[in-house]
Parts: sequence; structure tokens; C-alpha cells
Amino acid sequence: MIVGAGIVGASTAWQFQQRHPHLRILLLEKEAAPGQHQTGRSSGVIHAGVYYEPGSLKAHFCRAGLEATIAFCREHAIPYSQCGKLLVATNELELGRMAQLADRCAANGIDFEVWDQHRLHGAEPAIAGLGAIHVPTTGRVSFRAICRRMLENFAALGGTVRFNMKVSRLREQLDSVELQAGSESISTGFLLTCAGLQSDRLARQQGLAADYRIIPFRGEFFALAPEKCNLIQRHIYPIPDPALPFVGIHLTRMIDGGVSVGPNAVLALAREGYDRPAFSLRDFSETLAFPGFWRLSKKYWRAALQELGSSWNRRAYLERVRQYCPALDLADLRPHPAGIRAQAVRLDGSFVHDFLFAGGSRTLHVCNAPSPAATSAIPIGRHLVSLVQEKLQL
Ligand SMILES: Cc1cc2nc3c(=O)[nH]c(=O)nc-3n(C[C@H](O)[C@H](O)[C@H](O)COP(=O)(O)OP(=O)(O)OC[C@H]3O[C@@H](n4cnc5c(N)ncnc54)[C@H](O)[C@@H]3O)c2cc1C
Repeated sequence: MIVGAGIVGASTAWQFQQRHPHLRILLLEKEAAPGQHQTGRSSGVIHAGVYYEPGSLKAHFCRAGLEATIAFCREHAIPYSQCGKLLVATNELELGRMAQLADRCAANGIDFEVWDQHRLHGAEPAIAGLGAIHVPTTGRVSFRAICRRMLENFAALGGTVRFNMKVSRLREQLDSVELQAGSESISTGFLLTCAGLQSDRLARQQGLAADYRIIPFRGEFFALAPEKCNLIQRHIYPIPDPALPFVGIHLTRMIDGGVSVGPNAVLALAREGYDRPAFSLRDFSETLAFPGFWRLSKKYWRAALQELGSSWNRRAYLERVRQYCPALDLADLRPHPAGIRAQAVRLDGSFVHDFLFAGGSRTLHVCNAPSPAATSAIPIGRHLVSLVQEKLQL
């Protein structure tokens, strides 16, 4: 049994059913439709793998995920394109960080070029910068469309998806897992949870996840005014601070033809509250009660204040974008739905940068699957299938 019809749960369910057609696999989702949380609220960028620590699961799965995502889109006629991406340095500090990122691209085996100011200006006249890294393979797609298609494949192979089924309690026994889903008590031989923003809560019921917590980070977007959407030909990203897991406010050429601006990264006061002012006493008090949150705040209070400032002040938000795209003004920023990232933070206040999985002999939990997990969903699913096979000796 699998919990969560986001792209990670959908990918794993489909690949598991494909590998084991004789098994009866049930996928439970608490919402009425798939991809309602992170999967349906992402930037829609098919990442190439620029940022990730060489040798990490992220580096490995992202590279494989780019190819697998494109192959999936081709096979199932899902619109995608590889418009490429520029990471633009706007000052000396960022030029230094850009050089380090270029080394990382090389170590991760990514197709890239370093462009000087002249070449950058020739290719993207609206973008101001001292130089840039060009990654031609980066793409764009609707991950919600991919997620839906994976679930259709899963159902066509004999799998069952049940919506409006919230798993609230689980207990691992010697040879089964007992759980409460909606008003039903269900017993299963194996439980895999891919629960995104709720993942630590399910893992904690088994005594796992004691040393980290999901901290929800809200990502606020704008949509660029239609008349400005032709200003850029590629995704435009800033050079990020390497200590932070977020890549900075960027301009994304979306697959529907629009351009999104964002996301920023501010602490969310509710894990699944998208419209401001969303507040959940349970979610917020759990964040405040976690010592790792205070250690994290101590380390990154400056960055947090900057994010908060640009969250409440549209002009401050715009100024961050104008550093590399000075042609934009306030009237160009139109409303666009926000997303919330599930980011695991350890007790010592450090971010869990890599993907993280944990479980017992009859359970497996996806504990940390932030960006680029949508890009990486097919290799992550493949990996999870082999972990479950090992545990069950299939
Ligand atoms: C703002 C933003 C921008 C992003 N941009 C990108 C990008 O451009 N490229 C990229 O590769 N990645 C991006 N990501 C990351 C990517 O979206 C996520 O890593 C990925 O979608 C995670 O998928 P998931 O299936 O693990 O989680 P989710 O999509 O959150 O799915 C989890 C599912 O589990 C269900 N669930 C939870 N608890 C229960 C329960 N108790 N019972 C039943 N069901 C339950 C939820 O309802 C949900 O449907 C972005 C994320 C955000 C938020």
C-alpha cells in the first residue's frame, strides 16, 4: 500500500505495478484529486542538476530524472520543452560563487557553458549581469500532468487509487501494518508513505523521524504581465547562496506560455494553507516546539528577515528580480498561486539537503523529497521499488 498521490507516490505506484503485475497495490490520497500540494504548485522546471553535491542522491537522480521525464513526456504526448536556463551573476561575490557552481556542473557531468557579459547581453538583451552559466538542457513541463498520467498508467495495470482517504494512524506488526484511513481500518503487508508536507508525522508514529522535522517554507509567486512574457527566451535564475537549499527568485518560462516570478522562501504558518493569512495552531506550534527550528533561525535570521521583508513588500520583492531584469516594474507582477515546500531540518538546525528515506521491516517513508524531486520522480520511484523488493525479498 502507498500513501500520497503526489508525483513521488504516483511514480512509485506505477513502476511497482509494472514490475509486479500480480500484486494488488492500493494508493491512498487524502485529497479529492492527485497533485494538490507540492506537485501541483511547483515552478515546473525540469532541472538538469546544477546545484547538488556530487555523489549525492539528488545529483544522481536529477540527472537521470531529466532524461526519464523527457522520455515519459514523449511517450505519453505530454507537452514539454527544453528552453535552457541562465544563472546570472550580478556582482563580484556572485561571480565567485558562479565559478564554484561551474566546477559543480563539471563534477556532476552537466552540459553547460560559462558566458561573459557580452554573450549574455547578446542572447538575453533584457538581462543585466556580469556573466552567467548557460545550461541548455533545462526544461519545463506540468508535473501535475505527469502525475495524472502516471496514475492512469497505474490504474491501467490493475492498481487502485482511492481519494479522500486520510491515513491518520499506523502501527507496524511483525508481518503486517495496521492503519486507519478515513473511517476504515486497513491491514497491509507493506506500507510506503510519500506524504510530502505530512511525511514526518506518519514516520513519527513508528518512532522514526525523531531527529528531524518538516519545516514548511512558503514560496510566493507572481505571474508576469502577458505583454512582458517575451522579454526572456530561457529560465533566468540568480546565483544562489550555497548555504541555503533554495535557489532564489527566478523567472520561469512556464509550459502554458506564461512566465512566473518566484518563489521566495518564508516560514509557512500552516503546512497546507496557501491563501494568506493562513494559520494552523497545530502546525505552527509544532514548528516552534522543535529545537532545530530555533537553531536554524539563529544561523539564518538575516536571510529570513530579507525573505519576510520581500514577502510583505512587493517593491522589495521586485527589487530582487530587478537586480538581473531591470526592465520590470510593479505593474508587471500579477497574482499567481503560492506553493509550500516540505523541507526537513535536523535537531542541530541544519537543512537535510539530500533525499532521505527510512523505515522498518514492513514500512518505508520518504522523509525528505524537496526540489528537484519532481524532476527526479521516475528514478526515485525506481529506487523505492528496489528498496521494497529487498525488504520483502520479492
Ligand atoms: C514552490 C515550489 C516550487 C518547486 N519547483 C520545482 C521545480 O521547478 N522542479 C522540481 O523538480 N521540483 C520543484 N519543487 C519540488 C517538487 O514540487 C516536490 O519535491 C515534489 O512535488 C514532491 O512530490 P511528493 O509526491 O513527495 O509530494 P506532494 O506533491 O506534496 O504529495 C504528497 C501527497 O501526499 C498526500 N498526503 C499527505 N499526508 C497524507 C495522509 N496522511 N493520508 C493520505 N494522503 C496524504 C498529500 O495530500 C499529497 O497529495 C517545487 C516545490 C515547491 C513547493
